[in-house]
Amino acid sequence: MRTSRISRDTSRILAASRTLRQTRSGANPPVHDPSESELSSVPSDAGSDGEFATPQPKRRKTTRETPVKVKHEINEVSLTSITSPKKEAKPKKARRVPAKKINGADGSVKIEPPPNWEQIYALTREMRNENLAPVDTMGCESLADKQRSPRDQRFQTLIALMLSSQTKDTVTAVAMRGMQERMPGGFNLESVLALEPTELNGMINKVGFHNLKTKYIKQTALILRDKFNSDIPDTIEGLVSLPGVGPKMAYLTMSAAWGKDEGIGVDVHVHRITNLWGWHKTQNPEQTRAALESWLPRDKWHDINNLLVGFGQTICLPVGRKCGDCKLSERGLCPSAVVGAKKKVKKEVVVKTDPEEEAVVKEKVVVAKIEEIKAEDVDVAVGDIEDIGQAPSKRASRSKN
Ligand code: SF4
Repeated sequence: MRTSRISRDTSRILAASRTLRQTRSGANPPVHDPSESELSSVPSDAGSDGEFATPQPKRRKTTRETPVKVKHEINEVSLTSITSPKKEAKPKKARRVPAKKINGADGSVKIEPPPNWEQIYALTREMRNENLAPVDTMGCESLADKQRSPRDQRFQTLIALMLSSQTKDTVTAVAMRGMQERMPGGFNLESVLALEPTELNGMINKVGFHNLKTKYIKQTALILRDKFNSDIPDTIEGLVSLPGVGPKMAYLTMSAAWGKDEGIGVDVHVHRITNLWGWHKTQNPEQTRAALESWLPRDKWHDINNLLVGFGQTICLPVGRKCGDCKLSERGLCPSAVVGAKKKVKKEVVVKTDPEEEAVVKEKVVVAKIEEIKAEDVDVAVGDIEDIGQAPSKRASRSKN
């Protein structure tokens, strides 16, 4: 009796397990509910000895949600300590070797140029070609209206140079454009003569020292009409005789307006940078001009002004010069380079802690910042304002771009 009951129950269980296998092999198997299974009909007393115990639904092993700790640490370290191998040789700081005066046995005097000057010049030209400067698009040489007659263009060039003193190139360019567009009869000598000083002042009121410049421009217009046949003078002497025009402006005007390079137009950038290079030790732009003209080949006399004005506007700034970006510093050619200027970086350290994994440490350089470079060693307090009769000031020379 007991045997037949057991075999009956065994058949039922086998049938049930077949059904269960089929169900599990389906594409979207329903969740098996033991309460609805045929096994539910198995008497509770069956297999009380454990032989036919209802299979317990397997408890799925759940992964314990382990919190992942992420730790951010931000440290400031010196870039050199990360990237530079210990033995990397620092570029040597260049020595100041100025141009030398050599007295010949026959009484002749020869000036020996500073060593490496050609390399310095060529590298500076390279950097200038890579970096467009305000002077390239808004320099006084390029501001005259090309539609006007050559005489009017020369006059406009002279006025642009007078306005540019102690004024940023961008501001000068805007003032010049305004005069070209608004001056009744067009921008020429006759129109300036016809303007009331207040009207002229209103047109140039954004440029530095505009009141003084208004006065000088009006006086200059009268002198040009009365003494120079309504044109600008074609000699340095004639140009410096005009109110507010000094040697720098005169040489630049001769070069830009008449195409004659009779001297070097030395402005504050040319004066400052050539002193930083150690080419000479001069006190003012006039001394610098004389020093440069004693040895610099004549074919560079026109170019050097534009070269160094743009270089002073982009890399060798009057304050905070960028020696880290300068090829002369890189090659050890500039004695005033701030060698070893620290490049500071922020290093982010991410530490991930997982009990089942080893700690993962990642380091990532996040921010690189070049330290502000200290003010220049050669602080030349000579401003362009000397050309319009004002004492140069340190503050003024620094405010120029
Ligand atoms: S002072 Fe610095 S930026 Fe200027 S020329 Fe020398 S290295 Fe270049």
